[in-house]
Amino acid sequence: MTRVLVAGGGVAALEAILALRDLAEERVSIELVAPEPQFWYRPLAVLEPFGMGTVHGIELVEIAESCGAGFTLDAVVSSWPPAHGRNAPSTARSRSAARPTRRRSGTS
Ligand SMILES: Cc1cc2nc3c(=O)[nH]c(=O)nc-3n(C[C@H](O)[C@H](O)[C@H](O)COP(=O)(O)OP(=O)(O)OC[C@H]3O[C@@H](n4cnc5c(N)ncnc54)[C@H](O)[C@@H]3O)c2cc1C
Repeated sequence: MTRVLVAGGGVAALEAILALRDLAEERVSIELVAPEPQFWYRPLAVLEPFGMGTVHGIELVEIAESCGAGFTLDAVVSSWPPAHGRNAPSTARSRSAARPTRRRSGTS
């Protein structure tokens, strides 16, 4: 099975894992790696100074689980896609092409 590591917990990363699961279905295993545990919908932040709302974070682990992906709370520090053709967190048994700095917590 192809393993896909998606770095980040913003809109781009979440759209990527949602689209990937939809298009590749169960042919891939997906791991989301981000240095903070929550997704923030930043556009709503412009309303806060006017007392029109508050931005609430959504737990990335819950979003990941909802599309059958794992989540690692960590930061990717480097990658070498030409050399390895794939990226994986440091906890993977195979050679890692992406290196999180440290593993603070996470699920899979
Ligand atoms: C106040 C505000 C209002 C906005 N309003 C609008 C709007 O009305 N309409 C609009 O279209 N856009 C708006 N934007 C812009 C919009 O929020 C961004 O375009 C969008 O968030 C970009 O998404 P992204 O996933 O590319 O990056 P980001 O949302 O910046 O996400 C990057 C992610 O990568 C993670 N990350 C960083 N370093 C690492 C690492 N080493 N390893 C792993 N993960 C890492 C971060 O923690 C983060 O989760 C607004 C932005 C702000 C700040």
